[in-house]
Amino acid sequence: MSIQKNITSFKNNIPETVTLVAVSKTKPVSDIMEAYNAGQRIFGENKVQEMEAKWQELPKDIAWHMIGHVQRNKVKYMAPFVSLIEAVDSKRLLKEINKEAKKNDRVIKCLLQIKIAEEDSKFGLSEAEARELLASEAYQKYDNISVVGLMGMATFTDNEAQIRTEFKKLKRVYDDFSTTHKNFSIVSMGMSGDYPIAIEEGSTMIRVGSAIFGERN
Ligand SMILES: *Cc1c(COP(=O)(O)O)cnc(C)c1O
Repeated sequence: MSIQKNITSFKNNIPETVTLVAVSKTKPVSDIMEAYNAGQRIFGENKVQEMEAKWQELPKDIAWHMIGHVQRNKVKYMAPFVSLIEAVDSKRLLKEINKEAKKNDRVIKCLLQIKIAEEDSKFGLSEAEARELLASEAYQKYDNISVVGLMGMATFTDNEAQIRTEFKKLKRVYDDFSTTHKNFSIVSMGMSGDYPIAIEEGSTMIRVGSAIFGERN
């Protein structure tokens, strides 16, 4: 299967309500251009400097999503161009993004990463922490960020029932927050191994790497 065919197949098979983020981390710019030439314009990376290097080199109509954990001292490198920061997992990071966005005279869109998996290793906020953050006085003052939804990763397991339960939880939290946060429009859930379940559970954004570009080393 070619990258081009994979992109076309995803575009033909996922519902119109679901946005495809092609996760190009570790992959060369030639692979990204193959997807680009098949019409793909949204790409996801998990390292700030790798994303910046690719942004420099590639067409400027690409929308870059940061999908990985971000260290605060790296925010400045992506603030001029990043389209969506999907994995905001602390108040301090949000503060830094607001600061760097202001310097660039931009409003940067963000998602809060909610911890839904059982594994301890996964980054993310609890439902209560996210609720507190969104209600905080500091958050109300951030004019250069817009939190537009939530992101989550299910446990890496063959147990479909468990994955489904975790996605259901994220969707429930998203629906709940959406009633008070009117600019919420994105619930990012689903990767190569679990995106069909995520879509069934109401995902509006899937992040797919290996099913498009092949396995990573
Ligand atoms: C790598 C990564 C993906 C894509 O994973 P695949 O299994 O290759 O589709 C999605 N989301 C995040 C946060 C990732 O780090």
